Amino acid sequence: MNRLLLLKICLVAAFVGDLCLAIEHVSIERDGKSVHVDGKIVVEAADGGLLIEDAGGMLWAITPDEIVNRDSDAVPFKPADQEAMSEQLLREFPDGFRIHNTAHYLVCYNTSQAYAEWCGSLYERLFLAFNTYWKNRGFSLNEPDVPLVALVFDDQRSFAAYASPELGEATSKIIGYYSLRSNRVVMYDLTGSETAGGGRGSTAAHINQLLMRPGAERTVATVIHEATHQIAFNCGLQTRYADIPLWVSEGVAIYFETPDLRSSKGWRNIGGVNQVRLQEFGRYFRNRPADSLLTLISTDDRFRDPRQAGDAYAEAWSLNYFLIRKHLKEYLQYMKVLSEKRPLRYDDPEDRVAQFKEAFGDDLEQLNTEFIRYMRTVR
Ligand SMILES: [Zn+2]
Repeated sequence: MNRLLLLKICLVAAFVGDLCLAIEHVSIERDGKSVHVDGKIVVEAADGGLLIEDAGGMLWAITPDEIVNRDSDAVPFKPADQEAMSEQLLREFPDGFRIHNTAHYLVCYNTSQAYAEWCGSLYERLFLAFNTYWKNRGFSLNEPDVPLVALVFDDQRSFAAYASPELGEATSKIIGYYSLRSNRVVMYDLTGSETAGGGRGSTAAHINQLLMRPGAERTVATVIHEATHQIAFNCGLQTRYADIPLWVSEGVAIYFETPDLRSSKGWRNIGGVNQVRLQEFGRYFRNRPADSLLTLISTDDRFRDPRQAGDAYAEAWSLNYFLIRKHLKEYLQYMKVLSEKRPLRYDDPEDRVAQFKEAFGDDLEQLNTEFIRYMRTVR
């Protein structure tokens, strides 16, 4: 998730509670248009604002003044299955789009079938590797409630036409993203992009060949990074719109982003050293402020400041890497606490630090010393 994608939510912080019993039907007026939303209430705010999740997994943050009418019925809420979701996607994208489905994914695409299949198989491998990674460490994740949707456009132009309402000016600089709101990963066919040499891939082997060129590594890493966010938010590691510190959500996505296009089954380097981020951290380290650990864990500010974001991402990867390697038990306990956070409840910096200390001990200075000493040994 790019920091630019963080959505502004207008619900107030006082809550009636988290409800998810029956289906709520809400008619709203938004941007001069009438919209009807059916779904389960995730959060109902004291001022009447609602956070609703529809059957396709889309989150609707609705302010009280947008609501024209609402009622509910006793029909239990049921998330969409593959068939219902496919129908919905083909209604939304009628012209030239097709669906390729795998065990967990619906790849909705208007590029070549070979590329859709390549994406589907890459994502299934990532899904399995990600789940296995946590399970092997004692944190069992759950199956997603809804099929995971990946939208693949044939070129940057059609991608931008879809993405710009959500990304705004950043669209031209972004090659793919995970939307917390729609729960979709959105991208375009990378084999047509310059980093892959501009030649379209016609078979899985050809696509791999194009995307294994040295210049394409970061491009593929971005696609995997965004898909990792989607898995983390759908398998119970994190909850959408919950206040997960960015050093964790971004750190985890970076931790898994390194491509392994060589093997067709496993993912040999999962959780391995991310050389690009390690080098960035090394450069940052030369002028790293004494309170760097504290500023990283207490707020998301460094991630949101374009001048500091690169260093924050590198330090986030490093800190996750260190904690997983050297303090796994405490790290998993901390992840468990974060996984239970509910949407739209925000911690202040003191709370964040207190939760961190609760897991990793009170002495940040000592942890920082150990962190740096360890990172010096990582190659
Ligand atoms: Zn991210």
